[in-house]
Amino acid sequence: MTDHASGASAAETARTQLDRALDHVDVRDGIIGELREPHEVHRVSVPLERDDGGRDVFVGYRAQHNNVRGPYKGGLRFQSGVDAEECIGLSMWMTWKCAVMDLPFGGGKGGVAVDPNELSDDEYERLTRRFTEEISEFVGPRRDVVAPDMGTDAQTMSWVMDEYSKETSETTPGVATGKPPVVGGSYGRAEAPGRSVAIVAREAFDYYDRDLDGATVAVQGFGSVGANAAFLLDEWGADVVAVSGANGAVYDEGGLDLDAVRDAGDDDALVAPYDGGDDIDNGDLLTLDVDLLVPAAVGNVLTAENADDVDADVIVEGANGPTTVDADDVFADRDVPVIPDILANAGGVTVSYFEWLQDINRRSWSRERVNDELDDEMTDAWGDVVDAYEDDEDASWRDAAYVVALGRITDAHESRGF
Ligand code: NAD
Repeated sequence: MTDHASGASAAETARTQLDRALDHVDVRDGIIGELREPHEVHRVSVPLERDDGGRDVFVGYRAQHNNVRGPYKGGLRFQSGVDAEECIGLSMWMTWKCAVMDLPFGGGKGGVAVDPNELSDDEYERLTRRFTEEISEFVGPRRDVVAPDMGTDAQTMSWVMDEYSKETSETTPGVATGKPPVVGGSYGRAEAPGRSVAIVAREAFDYYDRDLDGATVAVQGFGSVGANAAFLLDEWGADVVAVSGANGAVYDEGGLDLDAVRDAGDDDALVAPYDGGDDIDNGDLLTLDVDLLVPAAVGNVLTAENADDVDADVIVEGANGPTTVDADDVFADRDVPVIPDILANAGGVTVSYFEWLQDINRRSWSRERVNDELDDEMTDAWGDVVDAYEDDEDASWRDAAYVVALGRITDAHESRGF
């Protein structure tokens, strides 16, 4: 539940969003029932031998929502609040995300309820390997492909691949994406979700006839998604005036020196020791008067309580589920466009798909090719969502993205005859 520490669980939000989207698209009742529930939710015990010889047992999950368009696909989170409901909701979003991008995957999500900061490096590796052993019978390159998410990274995926390969006696890079390039990872994968956020922001600004050059931007979360989006928006001429990490936010109305922000912290996630600008509260970042707001940290941060105070002209969701259903209503009333997560941060799964292709073909793509193809995929998906948005004057951007996704999923269900 950590990512959705306040308000509805990810699963509740995902189901409500689905119900709302169904007002805008015809889907047969039998299929709706199928889409509201995951196909399977695996719950596994993960025993861990501590460095001091003690033993602890953690709980791990893998939710597999829908595979009608291809293998389940989605991240693994190591975070203390991970539970089945969170994994179900996030796996539903993965199904829509893959469909809106027209990727041949369904939706999955999993993780272990553990605070990785409380593990030594060796304990972290042992936990990853044991969790992989426990889920190895449900995952695989043609069944369910895992990826990094909060608390996991390229190294984690390398251990997942190694352990799975041992279990199956076959070198199998395609079981996990987001690996280091040296073991079949793709160049550009780590930057891809942030890159897609920036690309979608660029397209949205173009749609609304706004200039990205000189636009002011606030980014909540200076981790993988937020920092990469911030750097690219900055490169494209925007003024990133505020960013935050879990430990605070910095604001400089003249534009932040992002390299200095990053270098000031112990790692990319920390912004506190930055000298320039003013320290502000995390919450205040969300209500700054900016052209673009990118919530790229955790879920449920834009709520009915603060939505009226949000002063941004455009919101592009970098995190999964940052906007509650009630806040969506407020933004709709106020005509503030919210470009949804399932489109905006889908660069991650799109480059994961490129990685999966590279693994199957045993052939690596250059970073330039990855970035060019990602730009093409994102602008195509944006175009599909614009068409759905313009076809239905009552649809929000989120509804429009769901309409595109649900259309493809429904067609696949009809065609396969489930
Ligand atoms: P990350 O751990 O790299 O970064 C998260 C950042 O958020 C860190 O800087 C952290 O300090 C900050 N943060 C945490 N709590 C905060 C708070 N309350 N206020 C402000 N900042 C806070 O994680 P990430 O991979 O960047 O993921 C961020 C979000 O994007 C998550 O919702 C994740 O599911 C989603 N996402 C990630 C990927 C991916 O491939 N990494 C892809 C798509 C979506």
